[in-house]
Amino acid sequence: RKSEVFNFQQLFEEILAFLYPNIVDVNADIQCRIDPSCELTGYRDEIKQVFINIISNALDALHRKASNKIIAIDVLQADGATHVSISNNGACIPPDLLNVIFEPFFTTKELGTGIGLFVCKEIIERHAGTITCESTDENTTFIMQFSPATGRT
Ligand code: ADP
Ligand code: MG
Repeated sequence: RKSEVFNFQQLFEEILAFLYPNIVDVNADIQCRIDPSCELTGYRDEIKQVFINIISNALDALHRKASNKIIAIDVLQADGATHVSISNNGACIPPDLLNVIFEPFFTTKELGTGIGLFVCKEIIERHAGTITCESTDENTTFIMQFSPATGRT
């Protein structure tokens, strides 16, 4: 396990290749807009797991929809930080659950473990980043920010 500089575009290419069977199974339309210059210093395998968890949850949320299933992935640089947004147009998360979903063992799935988002938050915070969730009737969006200046352990 070692810290390294890695590129977000390459990382998401790997993740989408890995999840391809699930994406085909759900029949989701993946809309990616990634600034090719975005990089992060940190534990690449851990950050990879974060995005796999979040996209897997988005696929779960879209699974029961009949059509018009979209996952939007946006990565951009602003104010010296990298902003990652992963959004899907599946079921809404009620406002009172927006913080609860990050707690260990909270799940609404029959076969869920409820550890995915807890692990995501833990990893992101160890990379001096933040994660929040916004949910409307139309979209659920996970917003992450990584500041290279504050660094990682
Ligand atoms: P699990 O996937 O095992 O249920 P997670 O920690 O990954 O555990 O997610 C916790 C809960 O957060 C889910 O059970 C679900 O209720 C909610 N959730 C997470 N992502 C989404 C999403 N994209 N759309 C709707 N609900 C979500
Ligand atoms: Mg999950």
